[in-house]
Amino acid sequence: MVKKLDDKVALITGAGSGIGRASSVLLAREGARVGVVDNVIEGAEETVRLIKNTEGEAIAIKADVSVVADVENMINTVVDAYGRLDILFNNAGISAVNRAFTAELSVEDWDTVININLRGVFLGCKFAIPHLLKNGRGSIISTSSVNGLRAATTIAPYCASKAAVINLMRTVAAEYGQQGIRANAICPGVIETGMTTDFVPFFDFNFIGQGRAGQPEEIAQTVLFLASDDSSYLTGAAIPVDGGWSAEFKIPMNLPEGF
Ligand code: NAP
Repeated sequence: MVKKLDDKVALITGAGSGIGRASSVLLAREGARVGVVDNVIEGAEETVRLIKNTEGEAIAIKADVSVVADVENMINTVVDAYGRLDILFNNAGISAVNRAFTAELSVEDWDTVININLRGVFLGCKFAIPHLLKNGRGSIISTSSVNGLRAATTIAPYCASKAAVINLMRTVAAEYGQQGIRANAICPGVIETGMTTDFVPFFDFNFIGQGRAGQPEEIAQTVLFLASDDSSYLTGAAIPVDGGWSAEFKIPMNLPEGF
């Protein structure tokens, strides 16, 4: 049976849990050999175990995406193992170190979030693009957020980093489009992962068009679409996968019946 990613090699960061794990499993099921990267190797190894359970091919790699040497090493490890790189999914991210309004944020907390969420995406692109150019094609996908499209209080570095990721993807799309590289951002809404366990029970899902949280597997389907030739003319886009949350302004007043 022909699969969507037969003969392709993918590298996915933040793949030891949540969206990264679900995407690793799906891309492997569609034939990709996957470099499963996380800063916690046990998480990456568990993802590889899940992939191998279904006859997929993957290796676990420990890397902190904010560290230059780690990122260079993770790319080289995948290329050494599988001989090429076709798909980079920059997905590792953190929401905040400490939540605070902007004036109360520490510089250290700002730098930590920006270094993982933005510098990490830049480093991934920097070291992966030369390998994609060798193939004359490739797909880069980065996880932004609805907070890259809209603001939220107390997480300024998260919002700033996720907005910057969108424009970084557009820039890469513009720079390398004629050499066959596509670059897109995905903007998840509320997805049930380790990142959201704390606040999902308190979230009012009436503010979201579809009235529910999303699952990591629902983001993974968009990752697969962007990774495969099904999206061959799609680049420089920021795609909300958020149950309709970012599509709507809730009207902040009590309108009379029938208005
Ligand atoms: P998650 O389950 O916490 O996954 C994030 C993964 O990234 C974890 O395995 C984490 O490892 C890893 N990671 C953190 N810092 C890293 C670093 N410096 N280097 C390498 N790996 C690192 O959360 P998730 O929801 O799947 O998040 C994935 C992406 O989706 C993030 O970029 C996040 O901002 C974005 N996102 C999530 C939501 C949501 O509602 N869940 C919404 C919008 C956007 P450890 O935790 O073990 O350190």
